[in-house]
Amino acid sequence: MRFNSALDSIKTYEAGKPIELVVREYGINKEDIVKLASNENPFGCSPKVKEAVAAIIDTMSLYPDDSMVKLKNTLSQKYNVSTSELIIGAGSDQVIEFAIHAKAHTGSPVLMNSVTFAMYEIYAKQVGAVIVRTASREHDMEEFYALYLEHKPSIIFLCTPNNPTGDAIHAEAMIDFIAKIDKETLVIVDGAYMEYARFKDSSYAIEPRELIGQFENVLFLGTFSKAYGLGGMRVGYGIAQASIIETLYKVRPPFNITTLSLEAASVALEDEAFVEACIMDNFKEMKRYEAFARSYEIDCIESYTNFVTLSLPETKNSSQIAQELLKKGMIIRDLSSYGLNAIRVTIGTSVQNDRFFKLIEPLL
Ligand SMILES: *Cc1c(COP(=O)(O)O)cnc(C)c1O
Repeated sequence: MRFNSALDSIKTYEAGKPIELVVREYGINKEDIVKLASNENPFGCSPKVKEAVAAIIDTMSLYPDDSMVKLKNTLSQKYNVSTSELIIGAGSDQVIEFAIHAKAHTGSPVLMNSVTFAMYEIYAKQVGAVIVRTASREHDMEEFYALYLEHKPSIIFLCTPNNPTGDAIHAEAMIDFIAKIDKETLVIVDGAYMEYARFKDSSYAIEPRELIGQFENVLFLGTFSKAYGLGGMRVGYGIAQASIIETLYKVRPPFNITTLSLEAASVALEDEAFVEACIMDNFKEMKRYEAFARSYEIDCIESYTNFVTLSLPETKNSSQIAQELLKKGMIIRDLSSYGLNAIRVTIGTSVQNDRFFKLIEPLL
């Protein structure tokens, strides 16, 4: 059967290998598997979230509140934006989908970093858009600007901090760049790891209020899947001026967020102490990865996130290393599909990280 030929060049998204598959394929006990592959919070979510979700479990037979009033109010207070400046998606992934479907079409150039989140390309190709990428591994605003002048893209993606490399764009450099972009170009700032960057160095922090106050053509994205520990609940959000949000609403399916997910996200956002403790631990443990990289002379990109990207020496092959680790029940991410001889490792608990170091040492 023939399908939309725009789909022909799409490579299906490869998610971090699920624990269940490793149990089946390698016969390893579930308890012996450590997954450091999807940048989840190793401490899970706030215990208050679990209580709150359990308390409303009987509402499952009813459709969710499609106005999402509770979560929108909580987000609106936290970020000092109006509820008309918010849209909620089943993960921020879904908001990326809304934005691309609303803005791009066949032949639209979509500009992004050489190495970045794979879903931008997948959604863009679905509508027949043309992908334009920079050459530098890390976001280089001058290169972005040159490519902007050359291609006049309909959408520009800035992923800060970037996945899968962990580097971030200096806030000033980003603002200066956006100020030079015409108002017909939608600039999407993906802040999936912004909680980490804000904690590490405020000069890399992008505050959505300031961003959308200044620019009518910017959409900021955030998620509950990373720092808030709710990857399984699928909740993310977009913040932009109301006219952009109104347009995104035209491509949103009704009831796209479940009742339990809405509740979980609202409560998670209120327990700031929990998230902050997790982030503190993250950067404490990250020092161990940096020291490990130094001792093996491995290039470790400075990370503003909850993962590290370790570029391996030429004598080692990232796919082989990932495979060897998998056989021992350690799931990490091989970045060879991004054209890098590198692995991406989510910072786990200290026990999980001990395990990682112990398993990888003999392979280096
Ligand atoms: C994880 C991630 C997302 C979105 O995750 P959701 O679970 O869909 O909210 C978006 N962008 C980047 C860069 C990510 O790493």
